[in-house]
Amino acid sequence: MAGVGRRRRAARVALMPLPFQGHITPMLQLAGALHARGLAVTVLHTAFNAPDPTRHPGLSFVSVPDAIADAVAATANGGADRVAAMNAAVEAPGLAEGVRDALASLMRLGEEEGGEPRLACLVIDATLTAAQKAASGLGLPTLVLHTCSAACFRLFGSYDMLYDKGYLPAQESNLLLPVKELPPLQVRDLFDPSKLPNKEIGLKLLNLASETTASSSGAIFNTFGALEAQELEIIRNELAAKRIPIFAIGPLHKLTSIDGKGTSLLNQDCTCIEWLDTQESGCVLYVSFGSVVNVTLDQFTEIAWGLANSGKPFLWVVRPGLVLGVEKPELPEGFECAVEGRGKVIEWAPQQEVLAHSAISGFWTHNGWNSTLEGIFEGVPMLSKPHIGDQLVTGRYVEDRWKIGILLEGVLERGKIEKAITMLMEGKDGMEIRERAKDMKEKAQLCRESSGSSQQAVDNLVDRILSFSG
Ligand code: UDP
Repeated sequence: MAGVGRRRRAARVALMPLPFQGHITPMLQLAGALHARGLAVTVLHTAFNAPDPTRHPGLSFVSVPDAIADAVAATANGGADRVAAMNAAVEAPGLAEGVRDALASLMRLGEEEGGEPRLACLVIDATLTAAQKAASGLGLPTLVLHTCSAACFRLFGSYDMLYDKGYLPAQESNLLLPVKELPPLQVRDLFDPSKLPNKEIGLKLLNLASETTASSSGAIFNTFGALEAQELEIIRNELAAKRIPIFAIGPLHKLTSIDGKGTSLLNQDCTCIEWLDTQESGCVLYVSFGSVVNVTLDQFTEIAWGLANSGKPFLWVVRPGLVLGVEKPELPEGFECAVEGRGKVIEWAPQQEVLAHSAISGFWTHNGWNSTLEGIFEGVPMLSKPHIGDQLVTGRYVEDRWKIGILLEGVLERGKIEKAITMLMEGKDGMEIRERAKDMKEKAQLCRESSGSSQQAVDNLVDRILSFSG
């Protein structure tokens, strides 16, 4: 890895993720990449969804007292309402004070003669305005890590325009209308806050990324030039006017030594790798909807029979809580018999290892950004079924921009699922999709070579951080 073994320099960087899996993962990966470049690294975290420090011996961890766990649990559905849960975490009482005290203590340590490296800056999740205000009160610069795509950052900053121009609120009659300001998006790909129980909270959350970025000293994107060249160029130009540099340093999971086991909040069931070893090369569909998506019992049943009827071998992650209102859902009657020997169902997978396995030839995903990058890096074509927020944007990019997958639209129904799986894993259209996924894999690999754009961006980011430490 480029930069590893560079002289250790006397600067510390603090990082603070939003405490959900899809946000903790890239923040820890970034922490690992910065540590490998010689920076001292402290991760600030909440007790809620706390990372396990024993898995990261090179990093320091500081627990910030806050009331996130209570706040998230008190939201509707004990956190199953994603918008309410995220808002509860962002607004948690005591968060700003906790971050301020932790940063002040790190700053003091860095000022002692011959003591710890000086604290140069705080890297925050794009939603953490409270942490940014705490840092700014202490005169500490912040950098913002965007855990979604560059395309999604552009969309989230465009809601005023989307309402002004009448794209939103979405109407049945305009769902297929192209949003010409944000190609290739159509109205149906827009997360519509008007549909939420509390539109104002939705809009406020969508706006956070632009807000924190505008008050930051740099924006970090977990993406790479060959994937989102146009989007990055537009963002770079817009932020250059405010003298805010951007760093496209993805796919982060391949620019760090921190592996999937190190970032996972749930225990990964590795028996599935032994099972994959028994399958033929290039024939298994991997199915996972990430850490937070919920489906209804009806949708769950349709997914199960779609998989069974496809006749293809599959590995399906059914995480506890996946089905709304059911802690551990039972598979439909007759399902296990129907798929005997060619289907495996587990609660949580070592996903990066699974996607890299030679038996895997397709990924049915919700298009969470981490999962998408992990699939892209391994050249696995996708069956996309996005559910909410940024996933909708990514699903459209998978099908229309990168052309590396098929977007499942509308109601989940077993016949439609079976047809889409067959199309992805067999047939002429599927072959072209598979070829393009392989091409994208090569581009992703180039980015992480020592002269690649993402490695260089990490070097530039380290220089930026060092420039703050005086
Ligand atoms: N993941 C995992 N095992 C699983 C499913 C997912 O380790 O069975 C990991 C996956 O590798 C990814 C993260 O969980 O890094 C999910 O993040 P993503 O942004 O894709 O989705 P979210 O969970 O935020 O919706």
